[in-house]
Amino acid sequence: MASSRPGTREGVRHEEGGWIYARNGQTIIRRAPSGGTGEINLRNPPQVSGALLIGDFHTHPGFYSQGYQIGPSERDAIRENQRGVPGLVIVEGMLVAPYGPHRRGSNPENALDPNNPANDITGFPGNTANSRGCP
Ligand SMILES: [Zn+2]
Repeated sequence: MASSRPGTREGVRHEEGGWIYARNGQTIIRRAPSGGTGEINLRNPPQVSGALLIGDFHTHPGFYSQGYQIGPSERDAIRENQRGVPGLVIVEGMLVAPYGPHRRGSNPENALDPNNPANDITGFPGNTANSRGCP
C-alpha cells in the first residue's frame, strides 16, 4: 500500500536557505549548508565585502496536507526580530511568506545586541540598525 505521506521519512526532505545582501543596487545571495528535515542553521552569515545584510531565507519542504506547518514558525519570527532583518520562508507551491521586521532595522525594540555572544546573533545587525522613520 502506498504511503499517504510520501517523502516524509526523516532525512528525505530538508530545509535550504541562505542570506540576502545589497551592494551598489545589486542583490547578492549566499547559500547556507543544507539543513535538516525541520531546521536549518542560518547563524553567522558570511561577511560579503562592501555589502549590507538585508535578510535571510529558508524553505519549509513539507506539505500542509501531510501535517506540516507551511508558514514561518513562531520561533522563526522571534529569531528574525532578534536578528533585526526580515526573513522569507519559501513554502508549498513556491509561495514566499515574509516574517520578522519589514526591513533591516524596522523593529529595533525587539532586536538584540549583536555584540553579546549570549544573544547568538553574531553577523546580524540586531539593535544596531534602526530604520524607523526612514521613508
Ligand atoms: Zn522555519
